[in-house]
Amino acid sequence: MIIVSACLYGVNCRFDGKSSENAKIIDAFKNDQVILVCPEELGGLKTPRTPCEIYKGTGKEVLKGMSKVKSSKDEDFTRYFVKGAEETLKIAKRFDVKKAILKSKSPSCGLNRIYNGNFDKTLVKGNGVTAQILIDNGIDIITENEVG
Ligand code: SF4
Repeated sequence: MIIVSACLYGVNCRFDGKSSENAKIIDAFKNDQVILVCPEELGGLKTPRTPCEIYKGTGKEVLKGMSKVKSSKDEDFTRYFVKGAEETLKIAKRFDVKKAILKSKSPSCGLNRIYNGNFDKTLVKGNGVTAQILIDNGIDIITENEVG
C-alpha cells in the first residue's frame, strides 16, 4: 500500500484549483493499493487557496517550530501545514504504509527541493512539511520525477 499526492492522480486539490495529473504515475501504480492524500486539504485549507511557501527554512524547521509557512499575502498558515502533515502520518500509520510518491517542490509534499519563501520561483534544498514528517517516521519517499 502506498501514499500518493492526490494532485498527481488528477484530483483538483492544488492551490489554484487545478491538478498535476501525471499519466506515468497513474500507470505505474495501477496494480497497487494507492491512498490519495492532499495534506493541505487534510490540514483544513480550502481549495482554491492562496499559495504558500516555507519562509526562512524547510519542513524540518517548521516541525521544530523554528520556521513558518506563509502565504503570498504574508499570512501565517503554519498550523494548517503541520496539521496536514500529522493527519497524513496518521493515515500512513493506520495502513502501515512504507512508501510514498509525493509531488515535487510543494511546501507540503516537496522532497529535497522547495521554494525559498520569496515567491520568486527560486528553489532551495529541503523538504516540505509532510515529506519531512514521513521521512522522520521511516517512510520511503520519492517524487513523481523518480518514477520510471
Ligand atoms: S499539498 Fe501535496 S497533494 Fe495537495 S495539492 Fe499540494 S502537492 Fe498536491
